[in-house]
Amino acid sequence: MSNVDLGKLISILGSSRDLARLITEKIRDYWVFLTSRGVKRLKIMDFCGTHEWTITHYGLRSLVPGDLELVAGPGCPVCVTPSHFVEVLIKLSLEGVVVYVYGDVYKLRSTRGVKNVYSLAESRSLGGDVRVVTDILSAIRDVKSHNKPSVFAGIGFETVAPGYAQIILTGHLPRNLKILPLVKLTPPAMFYALDVSREKPTEPPIMGVIAPGHVSTITGAKAWTPVSENYNIPVVVSGFEPVDVLVSILEILRQLSRGEAKTTIEYTRAVSWHGDLGAQASINKVFETIDDAWRGIGYLPKSGLRIRDKYKIYDAFYEYGIREPPPGELKDMPPGCRCAEVVLGKAYPTQCPLFLKTCTPQRPIGPCMVSIEGTCAIWAKYGSRELLFKLREELSSKVKAT
Ligand code: SF4
Repeated sequence: MSNVDLGKLISILGSSRDLARLITEKIRDYWVFLTSRGVKRLKIMDFCGTHEWTITHYGLRSLVPGDLELVAGPGCPVCVTPSHFVEVLIKLSLEGVVVYVYGDVYKLRSTRGVKNVYSLAESRSLGGDVRVVTDILSAIRDVKSHNKPSVFAGIGFETVAPGYAQIILTGHLPRNLKILPLVKLTPPAMFYALDVSREKPTEPPIMGVIAPGHVSTITGAKAWTPVSENYNIPVVVSGFEPVDVLVSILEILRQLSRGEAKTTIEYTRAVSWHGDLGAQASINKVFETIDDAWRGIGYLPKSGLRIRDKYKIYDAFYEYGIREPPPGELKDMPPGCRCAEVVLGKAYPTQCPLFLKTCTPQRPIGPCMVSIEGTCAIWAKYGSRELLFKLREELSSKVKAT
């Protein structure tokens, strides 16, 4: 299975639709087998926001048996960036520092606010110099046009870290631009999500993981072997086409049917077992691993990167004396928001009372409604089977009441 060549299969079968139909039939066969062995319900976690996008956008949940739940994980960097960093960026922007951010961070709301300002968008409307960029190179180009002190908010997972590291190592960072490194490492969050899923025996357990494809181009698939080995469940590193995801679900069910628990690669066109060794070396040169705070989750051991002392002149933490709150003082979630459960696959967006009522993509309240990789934003835009069920229930209760 790890050597599936989708291109070849599609050319044999004629179209990806035929292939999808074939895979779906196979998924149902395995499901019938598993239910005959006593499996009633189980969850597969799609860790990455882009996989959740593929699943919801293409309606893949409607193609798999109803008791096989596909739940999203904490793989959306904007969703898990703690509120206190939004506050730090707001404060800097109000004090005259130019703040460079990705587009989806611009609308991210903090819970505490600074002088009654709750997002970088609000700060900009009050005169804060907040500039939206697509990458750090755009920030570097722009910062050369002025001499103002500037900060780039380096939010992301393992995928963005090599770029930041290379820019520092090659001396390409202008003196007036500092990086606020907010890079998170994904495996510890996956371990945590799996631990939590085993806490409640009444809930169907997570019995397989669709592992992030982009992250794995850097880390290699080997990063996920602790999941298959320690939690005894299959892990498949998947690509992002609908057929990729279906193949990955099929592989997880195939392994479960045989009592196997291995880490395999479906996304062989981009991911290798050991990953990008050059990128890993640059990361290790520039960054050290720390216990990092994840929004709605708290501090996770060895789950984040900070710039090493040797390169501290590039570091916004050092330049501006930024300190993080101790674990007991994290205040990340707005009242009523269930993002903390959504990112752990414990709740669907439709189970949040604010979903598409007061919290919408136009006016997000919680962090999962902001980014294109946020589960609530994806469900709000593309709907889902659960959303349809909920709307049907609401409608029929209204009809009964009249
Ligand atoms: S709908 Fe909004 S408030 Fe509710 S969990 Fe999602 S982001 Fe949070």
